[in-house]
Amino acid sequence: MPQYKVPLREIRYVLHDVLRAEKHYRELGRDDVGTELIDGILDECARFAENVIAPTNEPGDRIGVRRTDDGRVITPPGYIEAYRQYVSDGWAALCGSPEFGGQGLPESFGAPVGEMLVTANMSWKLYSGLTDSAVLCLEEHASDELRRLYLPKLISGVWGGTMCLSESHAGTDLGIMRTRAEPDAGGSYRVSGTKIFITSGEHDLVENIVHLVLAKMPGAPSGSRGISLFLVPKFLPDADGRPAAANGVSCAGVEHKLGIHGSATCVMNFENSRGWLIGEPNSGLKCMFTMMNHARLWVGLQGLAQCEAAYQASVAYARERRQGRNSSGDGSAIADPIIGHPDVRRMLLTQKALIEGGRVLTYFAGMQMDRALHHADPAARELAGGLLAILTPVVKGFITDMSLECTSLAIQVHGGHGYVRETGVEQFFRDARITAIYEGANGIQAMDLLGRKVLGSGGALARQLGGVIGSFCERHSRSEELAEFVTRLTGLLKEWSEATESIANRAARDPDETGAAAMDYLQLTGYLCLAWCWSRIAAVSFAALHRGQGDADFHRAKLATARFYFARLLPRAETHLDALGAGARTLMELPAGHFAF
Ligand SMILES: Cc1cc2nc3c(=O)[nH]c(=O)nc-3n(C[C@H](O)[C@H](O)[C@H](O)COP(=O)(O)OP(=O)(O)OC[C@H]3O[C@@H](n4cnc5c(N)ncnc54)[C@H](O)[C@@H]3O)c2cc1C
Repeated sequence: MPQYKVPLREIRYVLHDVLRAEKHYRELGRDDVGTELIDGILDECARFAENVIAPTNEPGDRIGVRRTDDGRVITPPGYIEAYRQYVSDGWAALCGSPEFGGQGLPESFGAPVGEMLVTANMSWKLYSGLTDSAVLCLEEHASDELRRLYLPKLISGVWGGTMCLSESHAGTDLGIMRTRAEPDAGGSYRVSGTKIFITSGEHDLVENIVHLVLAKMPGAPSGSRGISLFLVPKFLPDADGRPAAANGVSCAGVEHKLGIHGSATCVMNFENSRGWLIGEPNSGLKCMFTMMNHARLWVGLQGLAQCEAAYQASVAYARERRQGRNSSGDGSAIADPIIGHPDVRRMLLTQKALIEGGRVLTYFAGMQMDRALHHADPAARELAGGLLAILTPVVKGFITDMSLECTSLAIQVHGGHGYVRETGVEQFFRDARITAIYEGANGIQAMDLLGRKVLGSGGALARQLGGVIGSFCERHSRSEELAEFVTRLTGLLKEWSEATESIANRAARDPDETGAAAMDYLQLTGYLCLAWCWSRIAAVSFAALHRGQGDADFHRAKLATARFYFARLLPRAETHLDALGAGARTLMELPAGHFAF
């Protein structure tokens, strides 16, 4: 079975060298978050991830969750003990607001820590993942009274949070949901309905579960403009804030699914359950978007984490497995390690290039959240908010799509031994698969990027992102050694900007053009962003080599991987540009009845 080893050196390189985390935190007035603190936390978290969480991964997948006849959900062996330590060691409260008992580290810190814990065991980390998103939503939209009552318990991890949107007939289209909320005499509401696919809807890790439920009030406008958000606890807190009376919330079943077997995906019934309105009536989707935007970045991180786990297993196997002859051997052994075969190298380098570039992009997006929330300068806050808005669907959609490719390549590297269970890599593929579906399927992320963010802002957000990449190109335009990257990046940025304009013109005439272009636009934007990230990496590693600083082999490996990315993965951007240009007709001319005869 693969043994997860936290890539601490990679994570430190991205934080300290590429993204200059210390400078970032200083700019936010957080001089206390310096190198020593960052590295200390990373070291400690790596030990926790490798020694406590990772051992629960394989049994969790094999044994899965179990629902008892009386509706309780039992998590796999070891989950409770690991979760207790997660809470008692303070990991749950790491980025929580000090006002409610949190340790107050900036949100972006959740990225490296989250990556380690999700790579160690994605299913286990899902139990606390949505709690963090729920906390953000309550901090921003809940009344003071609700915040005082619920946030300390959620931030400490003693209670858990969920997001209850989906119904059997209402997934992407939440406007047609049926769950109802009727006002009651005490100023609260009575929520009734059935939600499906609720992650961590019921389980045995926490003493209470706080559901954030979308529902419609009587007389609400039809469609998505008539949805409100309610806080519905499993147990109603008593006068001392302790979980007391049951609140009509029950788990009617758990799903049996392709992957994330250790995560409870629940059918949840709400029967006249007492709930409290969050935000204004009928503004539930707006409030829920605070939670969903955070959760979308977090799902991108899940995709990245599965790639990392699969890549580590691939490299270890490719170094060990001997088949055939290649230029790495001298003929003395029975056969040569497959890592010497060009095609195996193609698979490994594809994983490496997508992961390491993707890590820079994901952490960068996390830092924009810090800046958007905490920067003293309103202009800097606005710029960061814009970048975060446009990058969120890219991180969610592009990185999770790439996780399907990388985890599939890991199976391919293992050959038939990857397809059977004993090597453990097929689990990464199965676990990664959901990341392209939940929190808004990737087709919806593509529409969000192109329709809402780019066209919806009249192109302003695209110009912001283009401006950031453009100034990097400008800054390095005279560097001879970076020319192999920056010249191509500059050219692609121009093509991307022109494609954006051309789609905007076409979409003004035919609304189908947006949907028809969206996925290729998402992929194109993803490849552009990764080209920018790899150019940044190249700039940092060239500089380190000139200074004779650090391990030269590490930096040479970065440059070799950057070259691989530009030569062998970036050409995919051209395909997406061509497809974008083909327009809607090629997708729409076939009548629905002609798809199968
Ligand atoms: C393991 C798991 C955990 C989950 N956890 C949660 C959770 O905690 N809380 C929660 O509320 N939900 C959860 N979900 C639900 C998940 O978010 C939905 O499955 C997802 O949003 C898609 O909805 P759907 O399955 O109904 O698919 P549909 O909405 O029926 O979509 C089917 C396909 O059609 C496409 N499509 C639909 N509408 C459009 C459109 N307008 N334009 C273009 N394409 C479109 C979609 O992209 C998709 O490819 C979970 C699901 C799973 C499987």
